Amino acid sequence: MSNQKKVDSKEAFNLEYTVSPVASSVNPIIYNQELCIGCNRCAQVCQCDILFPSKEKGRHPIVMYPGECYYCGACVMVCPNPGAITLKHPLMNRAKFVPVK
Ligand code: SF4
Ligand code: SF4
Repeated sequence: MSNQKKVDSKEAFNLEYTVSPVASSVNPIIYNQELCIGCNRCAQVCQCDILFPSKEKGRHPIVMYPGECYYCGACVMVCPNPGAITLKHPLMNRAKFVPVK
């Protein structure tokens, strides 16, 4: 059995952390700081845990692992301020399939 202490998600949001954003060729999340109130709901709902709350109160979360996003859209749906967060889908997700005539 592991000796590591289990940390639930509520506790995890109160922890101090020292990590840096991981470089990636994709940029799935665009924040608009004019509209974002820094409530961190988007970070809390992300099942991939790629968004980290900013240390500055009222600032939008940091996209720590952009390459891990699977474009579920939960972060956009939970945001109380439309336009504060935008999901930029990759080209392959934007394809439209039309019936062949
Ligand atoms: S789209 Fe889904 S996986 Fe990507 S950041 Fe938002 S909640 Fe997380
Ligand atoms: S849920 Fe919306 S308002 Fe709240 S931190 Fe995320 S982008 Fe900002």
